[in-house]
Amino acid sequence: MERKMTTEHTTRSDALMERARKYIPGGVNSPVRSWYNVGMTPRFIRSGKGPYLIDADGNEYIDYICSWGPMILGHGEETIREAVIAAAERGLSFGAPTETEVEIAQFMSERIPSAEVLRMVNSGTEAVMSAIRLARGFTGRNKIIKFAGNYHGHSDCLLVEAGSGLLTAGIPGSAGVPEGCTADTLSAEYNNAESVEKLFDANPGQIAAVIVEPVAANMGVVLPGEGFLQKLRTLCTRNQALLIFDEVITGFRLAFGGAAEYFGITPDLVTYGKIIGGGMPVGAYGGRREIMEMVSPLGPVYQAGTLSGNPVAMAAGLAQLRLLYDHKEDYALLAEKGEKLYGEMDRIIKEKGLPWQVNHIGSLGCIFFTGKAVTDYRTAKTSDTEIFARYFRCMLEHGIHLAPSQFEAMFLSLSHTGEILEKTLAAFKDAMENI
Ligand SMILES: *Cc1c(COP(=O)(O)O)cnc(C)c1O
Repeated sequence: MERKMTTEHTTRSDALMERARKYIPGGVNSPVRSWYNVGMTPRFIRSGKGPYLIDADGNEYIDYICSWGPMILGHGEETIREAVIAAAERGLSFGAPTETEVEIAQFMSERIPSAEVLRMVNSGTEAVMSAIRLARGFTGRNKIIKFAGNYHGHSDCLLVEAGSGLLTAGIPGSAGVPEGCTADTLSAEYNNAESVEKLFDANPGQIAAVIVEPVAANMGVVLPGEGFLQKLRTLCTRNQALLIFDEVITGFRLAFGGAAEYFGITPDLVTYGKIIGGGMPVGAYGGRREIMEMVSPLGPVYQAGTLSGNPVAMAAGLAQLRLLYDHKEDYALLAEKGEKLYGEMDRIIKEKGLPWQVNHIGSLGCIFFTGKAVTDYRTAKTSDTEIFARYFRCMLEHGIHLAPSQFEAMFLSLSHTGEILEKTLAAFKDAMENI
């Protein structure tokens, strides 16, 4: 008889992952949570407080995922927690309008010029999917332009040369998406306005919208070059196409008014997610009244949601947005923290004569293991993911919890103190010496 292999688990996380794999595809509810790409099993998280996570075995980590952005104030923020508990006590969901929905929409509309009227949804994917439908309905055109390496959620028509998990997996698109769904999605090069101009010229009167991550943060972090976003604004206006800023990451992060405020550019439509929910599942899309009033029930563009504007989620989101707006000086503080962490990472690399790149803006940053300046999808893909995997493991040994992929950002929160950044930099220095 064959001897049964003993499956002794070294950690609770390993045991949980083995159990999870039996009931959930790959053991995870979003592929980016899997550590397959770095050859490990993920840590299961039991709790979080400020910048820290505690895993199922009781190990503590400094967290640079921050739920992929939402936890910009750190984990377990007291005011948000209280708002959620108070809302939950009144009821979890009604399927009828509530005052908090009006409050959050008004709060945003009065502070963000490009979001005069807003519709709440349940995720970033839903926000972008709806904004694309609206742009098509409004312009009466079908084609859209997106950028290689930008990620806009997992709706069919946007899974073309997409960033995030697809880039990590090294696949250009997804199975199960009929060609017809992506036939009207044209792909341009990030930071190359000429590639957009060419698509406009080749498809006169047919482009409904250009959608862009104003700072690309799903192929690692890639900054828009001087004038790139302005050129997109000009091209869209000239061709009567809508400019959509996908601010699911940048919204309420670069500035309260996101990249639109930071770069001083007004898009026609804007999409939000992540930070807007304060940790709850929320997305939103908004724009000028004349465009937004094309949406059902006022107009012919249909979009709905049983749980959209959920009172508990709105309470969390509104509490977080208020804290951010009432302490706008915190954006300068976040940028300072970013400069300290990423700036110092860059100096350590240079000091050691390593050829790698650190791209960063405000609280977003990442290291690319390539000798080339990373300005787009093509150059991002020159990164050595094997070195990244070694870097990831080394940082983890130091108690630093990073996104398990070369092609994701590091997210700083306000709860990351100077002391925590110092600790992280010490780990980074060790990693640079030993990987
Ligand atoms: C995360 C993300 C999305 C998708 O949001 P989900 O809430 O994951 O559906 C869309 N666009 C950008 C830029 C994102 O980073």
